[in-house]
Order: sequence, then C-alpha cells, then structure tokens
Amino acid sequence: MTVPRERAASRLAAPAARPVEHNNAGRFLIRTLFWGGLALAVLPWWLGTKTGSIDTTAELFQSAGRVTGLIAGYLLLVQVMLMSRLAVLERWIGARHLGLWHRELGGAVLVMILAHAALITVGYAYADRVGFVGELGTLLTEYEDMVTAFVAAGMMVCIGLLSIRALRRALPYELWYFLHLSAYLALLLGFAHQFSDGQELFKPGFGRSAWIGFYVVAIAVVVVGRIVGPLALNLRHRLRVADVVTEGPDMVSVYITGNRLDDLDARAGQFFRWRFLAGGLWWQAHPFSLSAAPNGRWLRLTVKTVGDHTHRMRSMRPGTRIFVEGPWGDFTASRRVRQRALLIAAGSGIAPIRALLEELPPGAIVIYRASKVHDLHLRHELEQLSELRHAQLWFVIGDRRDPGPRRLFTPGGMRELVPDIAERDVYLCGPDGLVEQSLQVLRRLRVPRRQVHLDPFEL
Ligand SMILES: Cc1cc2nc3c(=O)[nH]c(=O)nc-3n(C[C@H](O)[C@H](O)[C@H](O)COP(=O)(O)OP(=O)(O)OC[C@H]3O[C@@H](n4cnc5c(N)ncnc54)[C@H](O)[C@@H]3O)c2cc1C
Repeated sequence: MTVPRERAASRLAAPAARPVEHNNAGRFLIRTLFWGGLALAVLPWWLGTKTGSIDTTAELFQSAGRVTGLIAGYLLLVQVMLMSRLAVLERWIGARHLGLWHRELGGAVLVMILAHAALITVGYAYADRVGFVGELGTLLTEYEDMVTAFVAAGMMVCIGLLSIRALRRALPYELWYFLHLSAYLALLLGFAHQFSDGQELFKPGFGRSAWIGFYVVAIAVVVVGRIVGPLALNLRHRLRVADVVTEGPDMVSVYITGNRLDDLDARAGQFFRWRFLAGGLWWQAHPFSLSAAPNGRWLRLTVKTVGDHTHRMRSMRPGTRIFVEGPWGDFTASRRVRQRALLIAAGSGIAPIRALLEELPPGAIVIYRASKVHDLHLRHELEQLSELRHAQLWFVIGDRRDPGPRRLFTPGGMRELVPDIAERDVYLCGPDGLVEQSLQVLRRLRVPRRQVHLDPFEL
C-alpha cells in the first residue's frame, strides 16, 4: 500500500467560483411535510370529535388526552427519522440543524407524553367517579398493553432528563448514547397500546391506515439511513488506514486510502463517523472531521488525544479496515454568502479549518488560538497553504487573561485585525469558550447571523 505522506498543501483544490445557495427549498419541503404529517396524524381525532359532541368534563379531558397522545406518537416518529442519518435529510437540513431540531422537538415530545398520560387518567377518573390513583390502578390492570405504555412513558421521561446538558456531560459518552438509543425500545413498547387502546386507531379505517403508513415510512427511513446507506458506502470504498503520523505530543493524523475515493461525495469541513476495526476500537464509532480537502487519493483526520479511544488510535496499524458513516455537516465552503472569509480555530478545531482553507477563495484570514506555542499543530502546512491561498495567518498565543488574546476578543481588537469583518463569512471551530467569546464579539460587530458558520463538534 502506498503511504500518502505528501503534505496536502502541495495540491490545491480550485476555489469555488461563487457561493452555492443554501438549501432553503429542501428545508421548506421538510417543514411542509412535518406540518402536513401532523395534520394527518390528528385528523382521525378531529373527524371523530363532532361539533358539540363533548358535553361533560370527563369527555373534555379524554378528548384532550387523545389528541396529545396522537401528537406525542407522531413527534416521536419524527424524532427517530431526524436522527436516521438519511443522506438527503443531512443534505437539506444539515447535521447542526438536525441536532437542534431533535433537541427542540425532544422537549415537546416529553410535554405531550406527560399531558397525554395525565389527561387520559383524569378523564377516565371523572367518568368512573374515582380518584386519580384509583383510576391509574384500573388503567394498569384492566387495559391491554397499558403497563408497557407506562414503562415506555417512564423511559422517555428518563431519556429526556438525561439530555439536559449538565446531566449528559456527567455520564461517559457511550453510556449516555446507549441510554438515549433506548428511545427505540420505548417506541416499540408504546406502539401496541396505540392500536389496542387508542380510540382512533383500534378499529380498521382511515386513521388506522394513516398511522400504519407513518410507521412504515419511519422504519424505511431508519433502515435506509442506518443500514443500507452505510453498507453501500463501505462496500464501494473499502477504506483502510494507510498511516498514523504523530503531529505533536497530543495530536496524530490518520491517513486513509480506499477504492474510488474520487467519487466520494465529501467536502472540506465535513465529518464522518469512523469505526476502526481493530482491537479495543471496533465497538465505538467516533466523529472526526477531514483535516485536508478530499483529493481522490487519500483522506486525512487529525485527532487530539483526549480519552481512551483517541489514545488507542495512536497505535493503529496500516491496513486496519474502517467502517464509516457520512459525510455530514454543512461547515463547508459552499455555505458561504460572501466572497472572503475569516476562520477562527483552537484545539482540534484546527482540523476542519485547515481543510476549509483549501476550498475557500483566496484572501481568507485565519486566527489560530492556542495557550502555548507547542499547542499549535499543522503549523508548517498552514503557513505553506496560507501563502499559496493568499491568506493571512495569525497565531494568537497566550492565556486568555494575557493582554494580546484579551484585546483580540473585543470589538476594537477584532476590527484592528480584520477591518472588513462585517463583509466576511466567519467559520468558527474550537472549544465552547472560544466559540462563545467569538460569537459575542461578532454580535457586537453586527456580523449578520447568516454569515456565521459553526462546526457541530458538540453534537
Ligand atoms: C462533528 C464532530 C467532529 C469532530 N472532529 C474532530 C476532529 O477533527 N479532531 C478531533 O480531535 N476531535 C474531533 N471531534 C471530537 C472527537 O469526536 C472526540 O474528542 C472523541 O470522540 C473523544 O473520544 P475519546 O473516547 O478519546 O474521549 P472521551 O474522554 O471518551 O470523550 C471526550 C468527549 O468527546 C465526546 N465524545 C466521546 N465519544 C464520542 C462519540 N462516540 N461520538 C461523539 N462524541 C463523542 C464527548 O463529548 C466526550 O465528553 C469531533 C466531534 C464531533 C461531534
């Protein structure tokens, strides 16, 4: 196997001639499908609730309980589809927005599930003239599939709580991830009671058929996104490790070869989920961005060693097979709306920024923030590339309290370095602190939001 040790700066991708339009049409279509689907999901309830047919408090609660149940079930299916990793969703919405929508909808799902359980129980309690707890007992013992439905609701509440950022960070990532995946089990457990107890769905007819249709679409989307798509990609490209090169005490670059890399539809700034099929590594897939623009012959990742997995990656052998999923992300040159760009990076954030420098038009400004000089990585490559791309490269070294870095992250300091900042796209990638600090300055300098692009390192 040939080892692609050449430095990527020696070949440069042609700059994009002009910015590519955002996929607003795709997002509009997805939004329309979402609202149309929601209307269809509650239509059986609407048709079954004739005007003037609710005449008791019990019926009012039960009716509200049924509609919140239908909304909860529908939103849960949408959540599963949003996270299906289907390529077309990624292309139209973008990994970052998919994550944001998933988080926002997650809150709505929880509210709807809790409202559904409470309203139905209160409604039945009114009708039976018993207390809330007594009715709960009746529901659990006398209704088909109700125990599993309550278990499913409990699981969803736990998953929702674990998604609160502080709780999520307290858990090891893999544990959190597997707990989160149990939402599929909750969906399965809740499924049966919808059809055995749901007034709108238990008998054959329009409502039942529409809902079976929702489940079929959701299952198809998940199977294609999570199984068929990745299998096809890996059979086609058969990626393997070509070399692991030490970039510094805590940074390595992994060079990757494979078949037909010239038709791999990836761009600088995107990331894949990499599963290295070697001892101790194969059971986890981790996201890493490309640190060089794809060139048809090899791919490269540049990885900061922060935990067990990234430490083990240092000792991978050439020839190690890889199973990938991707590419994902819209942190690419095609999202820009201006001719020139400002790139701000720190830590492992330099990886996608380095790749982007190859695909952005000449005249970019790069700010690379580090605490110490030896924390700067890919330095010679960046210098060489900046010269070739007529870019300005600024290394900003020092503690955040030092006068230099402190001054830079003020509106005056930033404007001194980048006088035309409001006319540039800004690509930001690095630790939360740097991103937050930069966003504050950009807001104060009135850089329009659509010109600011964030890498989804925090998925
Ligand atoms: C879209 C994206 C692109 C990234 N690109 C790069 C890159 O180019 N170079 C680089 O050095 N780092 C990159 N990262 C970060 C990298 O994925 C983590 O540092 C790495 O997974 C840590 O694994 P670990 O077991 O060694 O460390 P741990 O100590 O186990 O994890 C450190 C942190 O990494 C995150 N993490 C851990 N495992 C996963 C996982 N399976 N999936 C998602 N996040 C996880 C969690 O936030 C965790 O708290 C990227 C992250 C994302 C989300």
